[in-house]
Formats: sequence, C-alpha cells, structure tokens
Amino acid sequence: MAIASVKLTTPVTSLNRVGTALGNRLKRLGIICVRDLLYHFPFRYEDFSHVVRIADLVEGVSVTIKAKIEIIVARRSPRKRTLLTEAMVSDGTGQLRIVWFGQPYIATVLQTGDEIYFSGKVTRDMLGLQLVSPSYEKVKTGSATAHTARIVPLYPLTEGITHKQVRFLMSQVIDAAQEIHDWIPLKIVQQAHLQPLSKALRAIHFPENQEQITIGTARLKFDELFILQLRAEMIRQELAREHAPKIKFVAEPIKKFVARLPFDLTHDQKTAAWEIFQDMEREEPMNRLLEGDVGSGKTVVAAMAAYQAVQAGYQVAIMAPTEILARQHFETIGALLSRYNSTVDVLLGSLSAKEKTLANARLATGKTAVVIGTHALLTSTVQFKNLGLVIVDEQHRFGVQQRHVLREKSGMSRVPHFLSMTATPIPRSFALTLFGDLDISIIQQMPAGRLPIKTRLVAPHHRTKAYEFIREEITKGRQVFVICPLIDDQGADNKKQITNNNEMKTVLKEYEHLSKEIFPDVCVGFLHGKIKSKEKDEIMQEFLAGKIDILVATSVVEVGVNIPNASVMMIEGAERFGLAQLHQFRGRVGRSVHQSYCFLFTDSDSQKSNERLALFEKTIDGFTLAEYDLNTRGPGEVYGTSQSGLMHLRLATMRDVGIIKLARELARGVDFNQYPMLREKVKEWENTVHLE
Ligand code: ADP
Ligand code: MG
Repeated sequence: MAIASVKLTTPVTSLNRVGTALGNRLKRLGIICVRDLLYHFPFRYEDFSHVVRIADLVEGVSVTIKAKIEIIVARRSPRKRTLLTEAMVSDGTGQLRIVWFGQPYIATVLQTGDEIYFSGKVTRDMLGLQLVSPSYEKVKTGSATAHTARIVPLYPLTEGITHKQVRFLMSQVIDAAQEIHDWIPLKIVQQAHLQPLSKALRAIHFPENQEQITIGTARLKFDELFILQLRAEMIRQELAREHAPKIKFVAEPIKKFVARLPFDLTHDQKTAAWEIFQDMEREEPMNRLLEGDVGSGKTVVAAMAAYQAVQAGYQVAIMAPTEILARQHFETIGALLSRYNSTVDVLLGSLSAKEKTLANARLATGKTAVVIGTHALLTSTVQFKNLGLVIVDEQHRFGVQQRHVLREKSGMSRVPHFLSMTATPIPRSFALTLFGDLDISIIQQMPAGRLPIKTRLVAPHHRTKAYEFIREEITKGRQVFVICPLIDDQGADNKKQITNNNEMKTVLKEYEHLSKEIFPDVCVGFLHGKIKSKEKDEIMQEFLAGKIDILVATSVVEVGVNIPNASVMMIEGAERFGLAQLHQFRGRVGRSVHQSYCFLFTDSDSQKSNERLALFEKTIDGFTLAEYDLNTRGPGEVYGTSQSGLMHLRLATMRDVGIIKLARELARGVDFNQYPMLREKVKEWENTVHLE
C-alpha cells in the first residue's frame, strides 16, 4: 500500500508485510491501528549514529561501520555443528570479519559487492577484532536507515516480533503522525514551551540526536501528566458545584462504638477517622483516599464512618472489587454495625433474580442502612432512598461517569460523600500526582502485637529445604501461596509487555511441577488471569475453606482476600516484581496468630536486584519500599500491571518533578467549556485505564 494512504485509523494488518500472524502478535502488544503503533514507544535507544572507520575500531564499543562485502559464506562450524554465516568486509581503511550464528539466510540476502551498514558491538577473538551478529542494512542513496547508522530505538516486544519488524512498520507509518491532532490548546502548548505533538512522535521514533529524544519525550510525558491533572481539575470543578448532606459529628455514639471494640485504635486510625468525620460535616462532598497497608485496620475506620452516616439517618454503600471481598466485608462490617440495629445487606451479581429484587426493595424503601456489594451496586435497577456515603475498597479511582450514576441513584438532590480505600502503599507526593483530586489519609502505623512476617531470600541450593519447611507448615494445617512471575520469552528487555497467555503458561508449569513432583500428596490449586472472575472467586472460596493447601497464582492474588490460615508466601522470580508489589504479596499472609513467612527466589545475580531484595528482606514498611522503587523505576513497574489504573504512565516517572508541577499549574482553572477536547481526552483516558 502506498505510504500516502496510511491514516491514523488504518488497521496495522493492511500495512506492508503484516499478515494475520504478525497482526495477532501486534494485537498482544495492544497495537491495532496506526495510531496505536505510533504510541508504542521505545524503552531505550542505541546510538549507532556515528559511522566509524574500520581502522579506528576498538574492542568493546558499539559502532556502525559502512563497508563493502568482499566475501560471504554460510557453513557449519566444525566443532559445534551450528550454522554460521561469515563475511569479510572492507571500507578502504581496513578489513573486518563479521559472524552471525544460526541465520543462514543472511548469506543469500547479502551478496559480495553490496555496500552495507553494520551496527553492533566490537569484540575480539583469536583472529582479531570482529562484529558478532550485527544489525545490517543496505546503503541506499537518498533514503534514511532504520536499523543502523542512526540512534536506533528498542521497543517493547512480544514473542514472534523483532525490533527490526517494529522499526520497519514504524517507517511505513511515521508520516501519518502529521495527521495527529494536537489535543492540547495552542495557548497551553506555548505557555509550557512544548513541541507540537506530531513532531514529538517523530522525534521519539526517529531521533536525529539525543536532544530530539529529550525534547520529544518531555512533550509526551507532559501529555500523560496533564491528562491526570485535568481529570483532577474536572472532578474538583464538578464537586465544587455539588452539595452533599451535612453529616453532623455526634461524639457519644462513636465513643461507645470505639469502647466496644476488642482493641484500642492506633493513633493513625484515630486521625484518619477524625479527618473523615470533619469532611462529612461539610456540605462540599468528601473526596478522600484512605491508604494503609494490609492489616493496618482500614475496615474499622470505614465502619466508623458508615456508623456516623447511619446515625445521621443516611444510607451507606460499600463497594468491593470482587464478590468474595464483598462477602468478607459483609461479615466484618456487618458484625460491627448490626449491634446497633443497623440493617446491613449484600448485593451481588450472583444473587438470584428474586433475591436481587428483594434486596433492591429494601434499599429503595430505606430499610437497608448499609449495603455491601460489587459493581452490581451500579446497575440500573438499584435505587437508594437517601445515599449519604459511598465507600470503595481497593479501587483508587472512581470515574466521573460513576459519580453521576451514584448521584442519580442516591434518591436525593445531593451527592453522597466519597471515601476510597487502598492497601497499595502510594507515597503522598506520588498520590498527589496520580490522584490530585483526592484528599489523603494515611494509616502508616500497624496495630500493636502483630507477629512480623519473616522474610528470607532463599539461595537456589536451599530450595529443597524451603520445600521441606513448607511441607511441615502444611502438616501443621497451614496453607501456602506460590506466586509466579511472568516469564517473558524475549528476555528482560521486554518485561513491560505482559500477556495473560504467558502468565497462564508459567502458572500451569509450576502447578504441574509442584503437584506431580514435589507435593504429589497434598492438594495444589492454581489461579491466573485467564480464569473467569466467577471461577476465580470459587477457587479463592475453596482456598479460604482449606480445601486447597497450596495455591499457585499470578499477581491476581495481590488485592484483598483474607486467608488467615495461610502462613507461607513463596515468590518465584522475585526480581521481576516491584517492591511495592512484593509487599502486597507478603501482606497476604501474617493475618492471624500464626507466625508467617515470605520466601523469595531469584535467578538473577545482578547486584542491583539483589540489593533491592535485600532491602525488602529487612523492611516491613510498604511506603519505604514504594518510595525506593519509584525513584528508580516507572510506576507501572513498581506497582505491576494489574493495577491498571497506574499503568497509563508509560514515559513519565516520579522524577519528572518539573513537568508534574507545570502540568498541575496549567490544569488549574481550565475552562472545559471553552476546550471540550480536553474533556473528551479525560473521558478517553478513563476508558483506557478501565475504571469499572
Ligand atoms: P485492612 O487495612 O487490611 O483492611 P483490616 O481492617 O482488615 O485491615 O484489619 C486487620 C485486622 O486487624 C482485623 O482483624 C482487625 O480487627 C484488626 N485491627 C484493626 N485495628 C486494630 C487495632 N487498632 N488493634 C488491633 N487490631 C486491630
Ligand atoms: Mg481491607
């Protein structure tokens, strides 16, 4: 197809050399149309822009040479019997030997007399200097190179796709970047000294020098951060126009409530509760995030807020991400509140039609004071009598759209107060970037008297011992989690590309190994992202009921469910996870009187990753861990992809302090009626990060 006809919406499958197979692989990377391809950013560059004379080559340096092929042959190496292609090339200043392993077709693609750019690292063997498996590209006058003699981008890949293919596709579509509409108003582009969007996209894929990469990347980072700030501003502006019911703080009942708890509240719990009570007294709707490590005691704080609202005569809705979590909340919160004659109800998707009708009726008439459920609470049939407070667990963000829905359902002309809870340790500074619209309360202090979880990095030769230990725990009646990382077939460079397929493969492999070879006599189960959520719930139920001894899983177990009887968390490929994410896994155990353990396994001997894991071994505070990682890695890697809400930051990191500040300043007071495009962009963003 002619390049000129490539549009942003053109499906990649209609590009040159993209068949069904490649089309499907691109799809796994989230690339369906030309626009997606343009937004598939390099994660690193190799600078091959300086063409070096053969006479000037030195060992150990990455270079590009421009040379003529004098001779090229494919043959079998005598000893190892592998196929190799050998060439002798010269550029007038000297000769150089080039070797490729296992790519016999090269001898037919490249021929004697061809003038070629070769890019690669110079090494030395017995015969002198050489290039091993370099990239190559024919010298064509008047056309730019894609793989050599330039700053070459390296892209996130997936099985069956090469850098060369991505670059080839990119060269076919880059002209379509001109078509991209710059969604940021010109005035702001100028105020922020940004590069036009189309230029930035060209720069990031085809940079001519380092400076272009820096300027282009800065523009694209601004885009990411600006959307976040715009969204916060939009919610702020909308909330400023809304009214919530004033829920007066009455001390007596709360004092009694606290006195009847079997423990003393921690200082942080008291502070958080106090902040929430104060918010609810105002007419402006509360919009607060309650952060606290697993087990820090957020539930009781939420229950106090709910109790306060119920006392004032309002209904409360509590939303959990899964049915099983909703049930757990129903048990704990139900037990706390029902002593005060408040009716607590559940509303789940799995209820029968009849049960749902009854539950709905109780809500609509105000008989139910507190309802706990999943997203079923947002379905059209649900109607409240006077909803005053909404509490959302383990979901950091609540969409503008969802707020509208709840307001429609609230049964009042007022909007409910809103409290969100999360166990993901997100440092305050970062939370402000991500959730600029939310006020934040943090419970950092753990309740006294907990047995700290013992964390150990286990050396490979102690694996058998670890299994023996696990067996003892199981014999004692305890249960075990085994977490598998995503093993990417393309190696570490591509770990950004997470595919469910791969997750499933690793989990099943580990499951086979453990259930057949190591623990044939105990019940092993597995859980991965490809399992439907209803089934997932069932498996977790079985684990909770003690029917499964060892659960092999992916990061899907990260969020929420309380399995008090589990005492061992074993993590394979630990170096592949962010510290905050490892901490979340660790939080799955240590939730009862039993001493719990977290065992880390790693194949990596990189010093950096061992330092990280050593820090994890001795640090129990999730915030410290998150901060450490945020300073060195992107948020997507720190918190993992399953926290999809954090993943849209592909380029920006916490170190982009200047851009964050600029984006925040320029978002303040934006007139969305004047720039409807900005509102559209925020909505589009909300759709892509899957706010549910
Ligand atoms: P999370 O923050 O993970 O939701 P929970 O609210 O489930 O934590 O609390 C974990 C456990 O700690 C619960 O069994 C709860 O009753 C208990 N707990 C909460 N606050 C305290 C406290 N101040 N002192 C002792 N135990 C507490
Ligand atoms: Mg909880």
